[in-house]
Amino acid sequence: MNITAIKGMNDILPGEVETWQFLEQTAREVFSAFGFSEIRTPVPEKTELFCRSIGETTDIVEKEMYTFDDKSNHSMTLRPEGTAPVMRSFIQNRLYNLDSVSKLYYLGPMFRYERPQKGRYRQFHQIGAEVIGVEDAKIDAQVLVMLWQYFIRIGIESVSLQVNSLGCPVCRPGYRDRLIGYLESRLDKLCSECQRRYLSNPLRVLDCKVETCKEATVDAPAVIEHLCTNCGEHFSQVKDYLARLKIPFVVNARMVRGLDYYVRTTFELVTDQLGSQNAVAAGGRYDGLVESLGGPALPGIGFAIGLERLVLMKGEQRATPGVPMLFIAAMGTEAIDRAFSLMSQLQVNGIRTEMDYQGKSLKAQMRRANKLNAAFTLILGAEEMASGQAQLKNMSNSTQELVTLDSLAEALTEKLGEAYTSA
Ligand code: ATP
Ligand code: MG
Repeated sequence: MNITAIKGMNDILPGEVETWQFLEQTAREVFSAFGFSEIRTPVPEKTELFCRSIGETTDIVEKEMYTFDDKSNHSMTLRPEGTAPVMRSFIQNRLYNLDSVSKLYYLGPMFRYERPQKGRYRQFHQIGAEVIGVEDAKIDAQVLVMLWQYFIRIGIESVSLQVNSLGCPVCRPGYRDRLIGYLESRLDKLCSECQRRYLSNPLRVLDCKVETCKEATVDAPAVIEHLCTNCGEHFSQVKDYLARLKIPFVVNARMVRGLDYYVRTTFELVTDQLGSQNAVAAGGRYDGLVESLGGPALPGIGFAIGLERLVLMKGEQRATPGVPMLFIAAMGTEAIDRAFSLMSQLQVNGIRTEMDYQGKSLKAQMRRANKLNAAFTLILGAEEMASGQAQLKNMSNSTQELVTLDSLAEALTEKLGEAYTSA
């Protein structure tokens, strides 16, 4: 019986991984220009961390978590998202003592037990960023500018930014009651799940993906119409800054997000290219979260980008050129030995080099050089061993040049450098 990967968890193979590396590298560059440092936390955490932060009545905690007991009967959960672990670490390591503003980013696998389909997996990857310590709307705008800049840099511009405000503990309870009243008046039109959760988590009903629920709630009261003065002012400032910074956005008053810790500004980057998996990035403010997890009362804001969805959108658009390569084809024991030491020396010098290890014919070796798309080949036989020189062939234009084997590394560094920059 063949062992296969777990359903909904994918291998990322050579040929695809280059796109991943590009997306990750670009995030590192963009985020560090905005002053963010990377943080890495463990993949499993104590289950309690997610129940307390994401919320007991959310989809994630109710049905999507990979939770299990370890051999000492401690309940642990493979992280379904990155914000709670980062906050846990921020508090535990007292990172707030380092600076009054903390800017952190993370990158790695997340786990949710969902129905696997295009753009939705059980292990998926997120790149996320968090700013802790600033309540000012300038930071909301900054985070969005950074997110927008990232999408420009990776060449995905067919996304639109939707923003909303979810209010705060001052204004949300009043809105919540009003929403419950509204939902009660049309309970029979809601799906069974919404009928069950409309009291415990009425906002989730607005996020329900069932078509009849969407229709039944088209004229639901909007949070932004019930914001307190402070939240209203904060949201206007966010919109003003975005307009000033020329970041295009639309207000989506129905956007509620699936995690309980969000307050005030929330946002999503959506695309129409991925069917119902239309969000490629999402985030918002979580001002009470750090305190609720036992840390100081510091505000925070952040987002997470779903990498699989970006890879799907990039598709075949951009095949990153591989590093050019030298293939050494050798015939005869002496030449093979020389090829082997040359190859090792070149590799140590950072030059990608390949040879044959299986005693194949010259023809078969050249076939492999072609298949590997080698930029240069070098053929070594008895004659070359005697003269200490060999023909270095440029495979793209079939020109040849006699090179001295002893100075091959220098000759190649120059040539491969040219081939690389013109690739
Ligand atoms: P959705 O509404 O699509 O379920 P979400 O609101 O649950 O998304 P978040 O928790 O905000 O998503 O995560 C941020 C981003 O992570 C999403 O916008 C998406 O790009 C990605 N993402 C979330 N869940 C998955 C998944 N199961 N597989 C792949 N990507 C995912
Ligand atoms: Mg989800």
